[in-house]
Amino acid sequence: MADIIQLLPDHVANQIAAGEVVQRPASVVKELLENAIDADATSIKLIIKDAGKTLVQVIDNGKGMSTTDARLSFERHATSKIRTAEDLFKLHTKGFRGEALASIAAIAHVELKTKQEHDDVGNTIEIEGSIVVSQEVVVTPKGTSVSVKNLFFNIPARRNFLKSDTVELRHVIDEFHRVALAHPNISFALYNNGSETFNLPISNFRQRIVNIFGSKTNEKLVPVDEDTEVLKISGFVGKPEFAKKTRGEQYFFVNNRFIKSAYLNHAVSSAFEGLLKNGTHPSYFLKLEVDPQTIDINIHPTKTEIKFDDEHTLYALLRSAVKHSLGQFNIAPVLDFDRDPNLDTPYHYKNNNANIPKIEVDRSFNPFQEEHNSRARAVAYKKEPTPSWDSLYVGMESKGNTNQIDFSEVHFESERQTASMFENENELEQTHTTYQIHNKYIVSTIKSGMLVIDQHRAHQRILYEDFLKNMTIKEATSQQLLFPLELYFSKQDIEIIKQLKDDLEHTGFVFSNVTKESVEVKGVPVGVPESEVSIILEQLISDVENEVPDSNFSATDLLAKSMAKSLAIKTGQSLQKDEQEHLVNKLFACKEPNVSPTNRTTFITMSVDELDKKFI
Ligand code: ADP
Ligand code: MG
Repeated sequence: MADIIQLLPDHVANQIAAGEVVQRPASVVKELLENAIDADATSIKLIIKDAGKTLVQVIDNGKGMSTTDARLSFERHATSKIRTAEDLFKLHTKGFRGEALASIAAIAHVELKTKQEHDDVGNTIEIEGSIVVSQEVVVTPKGTSVSVKNLFFNIPARRNFLKSDTVELRHVIDEFHRVALAHPNISFALYNNGSETFNLPISNFRQRIVNIFGSKTNEKLVPVDEDTEVLKISGFVGKPEFAKKTRGEQYFFVNNRFIKSAYLNHAVSSAFEGLLKNGTHPSYFLKLEVDPQTIDINIHPTKTEIKFDDEHTLYALLRSAVKHSLGQFNIAPVLDFDRDPNLDTPYHYKNNNANIPKIEVDRSFNPFQEEHNSRARAVAYKKEPTPSWDSLYVGMESKGNTNQIDFSEVHFESERQTASMFENENELEQTHTTYQIHNKYIVSTIKSGMLVIDQHRAHQRILYEDFLKNMTIKEATSQQLLFPLELYFSKQDIEIIKQLKDDLEHTGFVFSNVTKESVEVKGVPVGVPESEVSIILEQLISDVENEVPDSNFSATDLLAKSMAKSLAIKTGQSLQKDEQEHLVNKLFACKEPNVSPTNRTTFITMSVDELDKKFI
């Protein structure tokens, strides 16, 4: 076949926004997968070792390259995909800059093997840091295989900057998902450290989603279909009841290219208005097709953001298409009468039964009994603690009935411990004079003035130290569930759970079975309500994925932080007096009461002097 690659003239090259192509193994994965798709492959294999740090290999059955093209493909601005600057405006391929292979070859050991259909033999080229080490004739199947080994071998600083394997693998898998979702008509497989992680046969879009995210996904999907002159929308949104706490499964594809768009995301979210529980995000897998002339994908170097000519119209169309689907499938009210929204039942009350008010009489009440006793009784008659209040006791030893807490004892103990927190022995003189303001802060008096505590952050600190302790001494108390809980996750989420399993077990979780797409939980840390388990694990997975840059990755620490975040009493939650006191006392029994696990201030003090000054 004829040679098809040409060097771009400089002026064209300069019109193409420069961008650093390779930031991490996932960038290599993206470029190589896209090249395979541009080569019309119908089957693509991705092989990864050590999260791509040691090896990223992509094998395709596409059209291959001629001998000259194989050599030329590593030159900067060498592309077969555009010839003139005008071509940029009618792109139908993923690549067009002709930079990827050149950039990758500059910072890794690359081996290319390629053969075109009608050639008897193919070519293999080895390049190390832009230097061609060998070029030979080779027997190889039709298509192309590119191996990228030892990424950043010649830039140690970049190599050291890479994150843990867990994080890098997550990026690789994200990239793989994006490409695989956009092309259900191509079969994909992913092998990670020698084992097959994904095997996705050619299928329709719905099956592809299910093959990636697990069989339970199928029942959660609502189809969206809208065909207008300017825009064709197809795909699925997740039913509102399956909305997640974390923004996990949100995908837009524009002309089969994954893109991020806060604006379009807003359009979809607003279509869900009134259907989602607070703080949850809808899932969506939406494909938009527009005329390539009306978009500019060149606006962002890594090409996940694009600019539309007519964003407003797209917004309106997308919003109404999603609304329509939710309505059609009886998920949203179909008829939108002009009614008073105040009369609508809030979502979270929808399935609640009405409670019959109870009258409680304290039959043992004796007005002549001592103050001390009546106090103890008041606690004993306290209503069931709220679930998250329960979690204040996570890690505490259970003495018989866990719901019945002897506050007088806790109170006594913490007074002793808090003493050292303040210069004066009795600084925290009357912990029981606490007030809660705006269901957010707890105010207490101290000798020198007053103390204001952020309840959510303080509780995070308490739980965090408890969890850390339990994980370190490996002696957490676990509470057996009556019926094991089966929770479904996507494959890559399961991988994360597997990695953290030991640590999770040291906090009190007991896993009876971990399969490819589900985990069975048999026991949970004492005080963790069953209903919170999936939220905790989901939060944990998302925290691992979004591990804050520069922080030293320690699974134990991350786990303790994440669980503390999930279980801590929230802002907005009203606390009873005893609960407030206990929180204050527990906080000052902590090693580092001043800051939350994420280093935010937990309390402030204001001295009488400072108060006095305000009244001058
Ligand atoms: P771009 O994709 O932007 O053109 P690349 O550096 O990624 O630039 O690739 C350079 C050229 O090498 C491509 O234009 C294409 O002609 C050829 N090429 C790269 N990968 C493959 C492949 N897997 N199969 C066939 N040709 C390929
Ligand atoms: Mg390319």
